[in-house]
Amino acid sequence: MPDAAFVTRFAPSPTGYLHLGHAFSALTAFDAARTAGGRFLLRIEDIDTGRCRPAFEQAIYDDLAWLGLTWEEPVRRQSDHFADFAASLDRLDGMGLLYPCFCTRKDIAAEIARSANAPHGPDGPVYPGTCRRRPADDRARRIAAGDAFALRLDLAKALDTAGGGLTWHDAEAGGMTCDPRPLGDVVLARKDTPTSYHLSVAVDDALQGVSHVIRGRDLFHATHVHRLLQALLDLPTPAYRHHRLLTNADGQRLSKRDKARTLRELRAGGAGADDVRRLAGLG
Ligand code: GLU
Repeated sequence: MPDAAFVTRFAPSPTGYLHLGHAFSALTAFDAARTAGGRFLLRIEDIDTGRCRPAFEQAIYDDLAWLGLTWEEPVRRQSDHFADFAASLDRLDGMGLLYPCFCTRKDIAAEIARSANAPHGPDGPVYPGTCRRRPADDRARRIAAGDAFALRLDLAKALDTAGGGLTWHDAEAGGMTCDPRPLGDVVLARKDTPTSYHLSVAVDDALQGVSHVIRGRDLFHATHVHRLLQALLDLPTPAYRHHRLLTNADGQRLSKRDKARTLRELRAGGAGADDVRRLAGLG
C-alpha cells in the first residue's frame, strides 16, 4: 500500500562535492521512500553562506540525478528562509531560554583548560557556560558596544520548561529517552549567521512535513537536541533512522577530504549508478 504520509529527505550542505557516504545516505532515504510509496525531498542546508558555493549546489543536483534520484520541486534552500528560523528563535527567546554568548573559540578553550574536569560530549568539550553566568548589566554593555554574539540555549532551563519524559524512536537503536546534556548549551544562532544547524533542521523537518528522518549515525546525538527543540516549539517528532557510516581503507569515516571517492571522480572514472550502489554496499 503506498503511504503518502511517509516523507523523508536528504539534506546536504553545498560546502564540497558529494562523496560515496552521501550517496549511501541519499540512496537509503530514496529507497525507503520508494518502498513505502512515500515522498522524497531534497533540502539544501546552506545557512553557512561563507562556506557554501553555488557550484557545489549545482553539483549536488547533477550528482543525485546521475545516481537516478528524483525529488520534489521546489527544493528548499535554507538560506531563503532565514525568517522562519528567526520566528522560532524569537519564540525561544520569549520563553527566556536563550542567552547571548560573546566567547571566541579561544576563550572557550582557555576556560576549559582552567577547569579541572570540564565535561566532554561526543563532539568535544561542552560549552562551560561562561556567558550564561554573565551579569545582565555586563551583557547589556557588550551588546551596546556592538560586540558580536551567538545565541545559546540555556539547556537546564529548557529541560525544565519541556518537562521530563521526552522520547524518540530510532529504527536501528530502538526507543530512546531524550538526553541532550552531552551537547550542552548548543548554539541556536551563530555570530555570523542568524540560525544554526540544530535550529534550522528541527524547524525545516517540521515545516516540510518530514515523517522519517534518515541520516548518518554521526548525527545521533544531535537528535536529542532536535527532540528537545520540537517539544519547546510544539513541533511534531518524526521517526528516525541513523544509518551506519561508510569508512575509507583506514577505517575512518568518509569525509569531503576523501577526494577520490567524490561522486564526480567516480563518474569521471567511468562508474555508473549501479557501481555506486555496489560500492556503497547497497547491492
Ligand atoms: N546538512 C547535514 C550534513 O550535511 C545533514 C543534516 C541532516 O540530515 O539532518 O551533514
